[in-house]
Amino acid sequence: LLAAVGAVIYDGYLDRHPEEQFAPDPEKKTLVVLGTGWGSVALLKKLDTANYNVVVISPRNYFLFTPLLPSCTTGNIEHRSIMEPVRQILRHKKAAVKFYEAEATKIDTARKVIKIHDNSDVKGNINETEVPYDMLVIGVGAENATFGIPGVRENSCFLKEIRDAQAIRTKIMDCVETAAFKDQEQSEVDRLLHMVVVGGGPTGVEFAGELRDFFDEDIQKLIPDIAHRFKVTLIEALPNVLPMFSKQLIDYTESTFKEEHIEIKTKTMVKKVTDKTVEAEVTGPDGKKSTITIPYGLLVWATGNAVRPLIKDLMAQIPAQKESRRGLAVNEYLVVQGAKDIWAVGDCAVAGYAPTAQVASQEGAFLARLFNNMAKTEALEEKVRDLSASLNLKPGNTAEAAKEIEDTEKQLRRIKDIKPFHYSHQGSLAYIGSEKAVADVAWLNGNVASGGKLTYLFWRSAYLSMCFSTRNRVLVALDWVKAKVYGRDVSR
Ligand code: NAD
Repeated sequence: LLAAVGAVIYDGYLDRHPEEQFAPDPEKKTLVVLGTGWGSVALLKKLDTANYNVVVISPRNYFLFTPLLPSCTTGNIEHRSIMEPVRQILRHKKAAVKFYEAEATKIDTARKVIKIHDNSDVKGNINETEVPYDMLVIGVGAENATFGIPGVRENSCFLKEIRDAQAIRTKIMDCVETAAFKDQEQSEVDRLLHMVVVGGGPTGVEFAGELRDFFDEDIQKLIPDIAHRFKVTLIEALPNVLPMFSKQLIDYTESTFKEEHIEIKTKTMVKKVTDKTVEAEVTGPDGKKSTITIPYGLLVWATGNAVRPLIKDLMAQIPAQKESRRGLAVNEYLVVQGAKDIWAVGDCAVAGYAPTAQVASQEGAFLARLFNNMAKTEALEEKVRDLSASLNLKPGNTAEAAKEIEDTEKQLRRIKDIKPFHYSHQGSLAYIGSEKAVADVAWLNGNVASGGKLTYLFWRSAYLSMCFSTRNRVLVALDWVKAKVYGRDVSR
């Protein structure tokens, strides 16, 4: 507790030095960073902002700790506990960084400018403008994949942003209160209390687990007369859920879901969604296909990522990106193939890794090292030039200056020798409900797979330690205690 209090004081007061921040130097190169997600924030955290004029553009003025987003849908964690304001992050940097809350709508590589649009509710006189760049880092993430399936956008909830989690939280209670309405028809009660999740990746699995906990631990106590009618169904097109986990953990997850009465429908591909039903094609054990219709109260769509229009437009401008389908193809230094002075990180980049937070944050940290080195290299090259010039002017100091040149050149060689980006996989974790989690963690030269209650404690401590700030850590821990002692807040 003392350590936590100490850390809060340190984070909150002692580490503040905005008055000492120096202003951006217009002589320096302008480095524009798009996005405030895992990749961009990892870059900003480690970047020496004194070397560039740094400008950050994002429609979101906060960083979101996405691994705990499913917990926000039921009120196990309050949404502000996993948000960290970007301005709070930037105020700790050595040199001031400009932040514009706006959406980048076009990247013009020929003119090296970015068109930005202010899409906030309060309108000023200027809503659209351009920002020039010398160097550009794109970390805008991806959007929700719907595969053009009819009715998905209109009728389902996604689980990517904080407003999605809030919408789900409201909708769950809306369904519950409507199901509890006087004289409600029995078939309607069943429909309203049927929560359907499409997509058996970690997002869908974690959400299904959180949902079941919410009903078992809270709704059961508060509205016992309808709680037993509550049902969760997880629909997955592939033969099993969590394909990135080992077979043993997939089996464990499936058997835990069975105990929790979460129905998993595998080999079931959703083809159409209406306001009250989901239509899916099921492939039977004999390979025969049939169509089923499932009534639902809440539908959560978690079928992975699709490329954002901004990225599609940029790819269309670069012939070398023609073959790329899933995002911006980058080389081993995360440079966008076929473009000059543009780098990409996270879910919008295709670097040969899964689109995870872990990959994005390692990419961001790598770019920070690369840019810090590039600035140091330029400074040392200038020093060598100056020393060589002084050598010509003052022949008396030859030996001393020559030694300094040699030392500087040695330093330069060391700095320039930056290895390509290499992702180091630490493991995968997922919460599966009933205070159980699964983990595939890298250990020595192999992998350790575990599942159960102890893994859940590991999951909690790992996520707590990964939170952005001590403030976030304290808030999340307090939320967990609060939900355990008083129950989740079911007000709508
Ligand atoms: P995902 O891409 O991992 O899974 C989506 C699933 O939806 C797939 O299994 C796919 O077969 C299924 N699907 C697609 N269309 C369908 C349809 N019409 N009907 C039924 N099923 C359909 O998506 P995600 O869970 O959102 O994860 C996205 C990325 O983020 C992944 O790389 C994942 O590893 C990562 N992530 C990791 C964690 C974690 O480690 N805890 C948590 C969340 C996300």
